[in-house]
Amino acid sequence: MKVDLPARESGKMIWTRRHLLGLEELHPQEIVTILDMAEEFTDSGGNRPRKRTNLRGKVVVNLFFEPSTRTRTSFGLAARQLGADTIDFSSSGSSVSKGETFIDTAKNIEALGIDLAVVRHSVPGAPHLLSQHLNCGVVNAGDGAHEHPTQGLLDIFTIRQVKGHVEGLTVGLVGDIAHSRVARSNIHGLLKLGARVIVCGPSTLIPPTVERLGVEVAHRLDDILPLCDVVNVLRIQFERQRSGLFPSIQEYSRLFGMHSERLRRAKPDLLLLAPGPINRGVELTPEVADGPNSAILKQVKNGLAVRMAVLYLLAGQPPEA
Ligand code: ASP
Repeated sequence: MKVDLPARESGKMIWTRRHLLGLEELHPQEIVTILDMAEEFTDSGGNRPRKRTNLRGKVVVNLFFEPSTRTRTSFGLAARQLGADTIDFSSSGSSVSKGETFIDTAKNIEALGIDLAVVRHSVPGAPHLLSQHLNCGVVNAGDGAHEHPTQGLLDIFTIRQVKGHVEGLTVGLVGDIAHSRVARSNIHGLLKLGARVIVCGPSTLIPPTVERLGVEVAHRLDDILPLCDVVNVLRIQFERQRSGLFPSIQEYSRLFGMHSERLRRAKPDLLLLAPGPINRGVELTPEVADGPNSAILKQVKNGLAVRMAVLYLLAGQPPEA
């Protein structure tokens, strides 16, 4: 997909987008702008980025039609750290159960005076649809198996933070590539920033045309592990699969699970990522998930700064001096 170069003024990129729907449509420079902005929001000393006022007077709504832990809480906190007022909507317990449509629900909430809607839905393209029906900005917080742009951004931010760069790194995406929106956002973002991406999993969990995106495909984790600088371990998306895509969890775990014995074949400084939730003992054993190579909680922490950067760029006022 060809992406237009964003406008520049005196060497600096001017952010013009009102929506963040996916990494596929972003120019590499836009991705770097978000990462650089997130770095400004990262507070080296404190527990979380300091409070700002860039979104004072704005209202951000979380519109979640699918479960979430990290994305939902960190978008809420990110908005409040920037001084916005927040509304938290979840479809369970709402008038959706009375038959109200997705668009009507969103339009009614927008009528409260919303500036940004952060949308999660099981249907791919749902945030895109809302961006055509609402006047406020829309952020995709995960749409079916399509994209999860802020997860992709926080993964890439964590890679850049730990490794110092992204270009030239070999990144393995391991697991359920077919049903993972995190895989797709990682693929688009990492390739745009010059990484080599290898997707690895059972053939039933790898989309047949994925190579067209520019990635390499492997079916044996032990073959690619020694090549990888980073491995992003993706959860098996049981909620999006039909059954019988692999013989058993035990076998999946034996072939694609990350355990201490397997880790010995990797580079000593392998960076291990996982978007969460993790199924301990399936994709990762507890000692690996909590071990020195794992950046799982660092990712969660970085998610706050990345989401602050996204909200700021889409709706914020210039940073305070
Ligand atoms: N939390 C991520 C998502 O919503 C990853 C996962 O659920 O496996 O896509």
